[in-house]
Amino acid sequence: MMSQPKRYATGLSNDLWLPAEALAVREEARRFADNVLKPLAHGLNTTPEKREGFRHDVVQAIANAGLYEIPFSTDVGGRGLRYPTLATLLVMEELGYYSPGAASAFYDGQAILCGQTLNNASDKIRQAYIPPLIKGEIVCCFATSEPDTSTDLSVSAMQTTAKRVEGGYVVNGRKRWITNSVAGDIVLLLCKTGNTLTMLIVDMHSEGVKVFDPDLKMGNHAQLTADIELSNVFVPEANRVGEEGAGLRVALGSLMIGRAGIAALGVGMAQRAFDFSANYICEREVFGKPIAAFQHWQFTYADHAIAIENARNLYQKAAMIHDKGEPSLPLMAMAKVSGSEVAVNMSRDAIQACGGYGFARTMTSDNVDWPLEAIYRDAKIGEIYEGANEVQRWAVAREIFGRGVTG
Ligand SMILES: Cc1cc2nc3c(=O)[nH]c(=O)nc-3n(C[C@H](O)[C@H](O)[C@H](O)COP(=O)(O)OP(=O)(O)OC[C@H]3O[C@@H](n4cnc5c(N)ncnc54)[C@H](O)[C@@H]3O)c2cc1C
Repeated sequence: MMSQPKRYATGLSNDLWLPAEALAVREEARRFADNVLKPLAHGLNTTPEKREGFRHDVVQAIANAGLYEIPFSTDVGGRGLRYPTLATLLVMEELGYYSPGAASAFYDGQAILCGQTLNNASDKIRQAYIPPLIKGEIVCCFATSEPDTSTDLSVSAMQTTAKRVEGGYVVNGRKRWITNSVAGDIVLLLCKTGNTLTMLIVDMHSEGVKVFDPDLKMGNHAQLTADIELSNVFVPEANRVGEEGAGLRVALGSLMIGRAGIAALGVGMAQRAFDFSANYICEREVFGKPIAAFQHWQFTYADHAIAIENARNLYQKAAMIHDKGEPSLPLMAMAKVSGSEVAVNMSRDAIQACGGYGFARTMTSDNVDWPLEAIYRDAKIGEIYEGANEVQRWAVAREIFGRGVTG
């Protein structure tokens, strides 16, 4: 039986530029992850998706621990931190260390995508929705994707419409892949208003809202996604986020932070796969010596340590620049690519180094659960969602060559 894995990042990572408030938040989030998430992680990461499987208990536990306060200002019940984006992403890394699906659904979805969008709305909307979000009293969804479009959020591609009527809008359409929708109270919906896109807050208990059963996916099983169908749903004008026609800007602003969250999540996953497998190969012997004594694995783990620290530095730097109010888009894009790819590469090699045990979910005869196969399955979506990595590379290429060349 393996001993408790050592956290290698403690020796290999350097916190040079992290402010004291960020270090305190990381400590707090790690305590929560170790004490609350770790015991639940195997079930969260391996139980197939079911409508009744939505983990209200985990949302409530995150709320009870105060972690939903971190992104927000004090006027809505938040912490009022100086570097809220940085602190929020540190929480993502810590939660992602044990359960990427839970971190993606209950923190990136709830606190970042929905939290950021609500925070950009009128003060009335902020006061109405952010305090209950912080307390875990409402489940929120963020919906841009549709069956026929997701990467391309142009007006010509979008099919969901909001038609002006007296006092508000009537919405028709179908959204796809919507995280948390099976338990959602509100959905922040990007829809077409004539020749522009507008973001509306739709009460999911309204007449005309139908949520399908959750999709069955390769990974992120704790993140339930499903289609939402909207048939003649009335939305009051007061539920519009920003001006009519400002929806794409609002959505992309939230997605930019969300994708930095995916970067931090990738770093957390990579670190967990690194820690678990590095411990294992120090103990497991082949040909009379530990697997770690073979130079092949020493170089492989050295390369991964470099890649993890680079990815961590990138997301933290992007977050701090954003918190200082400076343009952060290219760094956020670089961070998304680095964090998501290091998770895939590290988990693949961790499985190889651990052999058959890396490939196992549970060794039934020993009654021992193994985490690496779930990390490998969960890592892949990081390269796709919240802006596929090709699109992130396109954003970086724009900085190099200019829009005139890249489009
Ligand atoms: C687990 C999960 C949770 C999700 N949660 C949500 C949610 O809560 N809300 C929501 O709105 N959506 C959500 N999504 C949708 C997700 O954001 C989309 O799957 C993602 O944006 C990709 O869109 P698509 O699947 O339609 O792929 P497409 O848009 O069809 O793209 C397919 C592939 O084309 C390639 N590609 C695209 N553009 C370019 C380009 N410019 N250059 C080169 N190649 C390119 C990329 O490799 C991309 O992966 C979720 C998806 C999953 C799987």
